[in-house]
Amino acid sequence: MQTPSPALPTDNERLNWLSSIPFFAVHLMCFAVLWVGAKPVDVAVCVGLYIVRMWGITAGYHRYFSHRAFKTGRVFQFILALVGSTSTQKGVLWWAANHRHHHRFSDQAEDIHSPIQRGFWWSHMNWILCDKYGETRMEAIKDFARYPELVWLNRFHLVPPVALAVALYFIGGFSMLVWGFFVSTTVLWHGTFTINSLSHIFGKRRYKTTDTSRNNWLLALITLGEGWHNNHHYHQNTANQGWFWWEVDLSYYSLKVLSWMGVVEGLRTPSEATKYAFRKYTPEERAELAAPTRFWGADGARAQLVAAKTAAKTAAGDAARAAGDAAKVAGDKVREALAAATEPLPTSSPAP
Ligand SMILES: [Zn+2]
Ligand SMILES: [Zn+2]
Repeated sequence: MQTPSPALPTDNERLNWLSSIPFFAVHLMCFAVLWVGAKPVDVAVCVGLYIVRMWGITAGYHRYFSHRAFKTGRVFQFILALVGSTSTQKGVLWWAANHRHHHRFSDQAEDIHSPIQRGFWWSHMNWILCDKYGETRMEAIKDFARYPELVWLNRFHLVPPVALAVALYFIGGFSMLVWGFFVSTTVLWHGTFTINSLSHIFGKRRYKTTDTSRNNWLLALITLGEGWHNNHHYHQNTANQGWFWWEVDLSYYSLKVLSWMGVVEGLRTPSEATKYAFRKYTPEERAELAAPTRFWGADGARAQLVAAKTAAKTAAGDAARAAGDAAKVAGDKVREALAAATEPLPTSSPAP
C-alpha cells in the first residue's frame, strides 16, 4: 500500500528524560535477577501477572473502554479498569481516549503513534515518554468520564501498581518483587507496545484500511489476541479480533466464558459480509494488500523520515545563518553611523 509522507516532530515531542526516570528504572531493576536467581514460584508469579494484566489491557482498556465491544455492569467495569491499571500503562481514560484518537487518524499525520509517520521507536514508546500526550483527552472519552470511580482511578493510576508491588514484596520478598513486578511489567509493556509498532509493519493484510495495520499470529499469541490488528482496524468494535477459527484470540475466549457466566453480555462480532469482504477485492487490490509495508530500506518510511528531518534541520540552519548575516550587516551599519556621529567636527583654526 501507499506509504504516507512522514510528519515532522515538534518540540514537546522530545523525550523527557527526567519524567521518564521511573520507566527506565523499572527496566534497570530487571537486572536484579542476576542476584536473586530464578525461583520457580517467582517465575510463575511473573508469568501469571503478565497474563492477568495483559488481559486487563486487552479485554478492559482496549475492547471495553476504547471500543465498547461488549456490555457489563458498573462493578465489573471497575474491576476491568482496576486490573488494567495494575499494568502500569497510565489511567484507563487516558489510555482509551488516546487509542480512540489512533483509530480516527491511523497512520495519517495526526496519528499519535504511527511507525510510518514517526519511526519505530516513536510508535513503540517515545510517544509516551514525551510531554505532548501526558494529559487525558476527556472530550474523547465522555461516555466513561461520567463515572467518578473511573475518574478517580484515572487520576491516581499509580495506586494499583504500587499496591501490587508492595504486596509482592510482603508475600514473597525481594525476589518476588523483582520477578512479579519489574520483569513482568517490563515484558508486559513491550508486549503491549508491539501492537502500536510491529503490528503496523509485519504480518499479513487481509482487508483494505487507510493504515498499514497487519495480522500477525506471533503478536496475537503474546498479546492474547491483539495481533489480529488488520481485522481490528477494518472493524474496530468487535469483541473478537481473531475472526476465523485459526486466529487464536485468548481474550475473546475468556470473554465468551464470562458471557456464559452472565458477567458480560452483548459481545459484538463481525457480520459475514464484513468477515468475507476481501472476497470481492479485485486482483489489483489483492496485489496491493500483499505488498510489504515499505518501512526499512532505501525508500522505506524510516529513510523518508530521516531525509525529511535532515532537510528540516538544514533549512533551519540556513535560516539561522541568513538571520545571523543580516544581523551582522545591520550591526556594522550601526557602528559606522555611530563612528560618524562621534567624530570631532573640523575646526577652522588650530588650537593655540
Ligand atoms: Zn493500530
Ligand atoms: Zn483499537
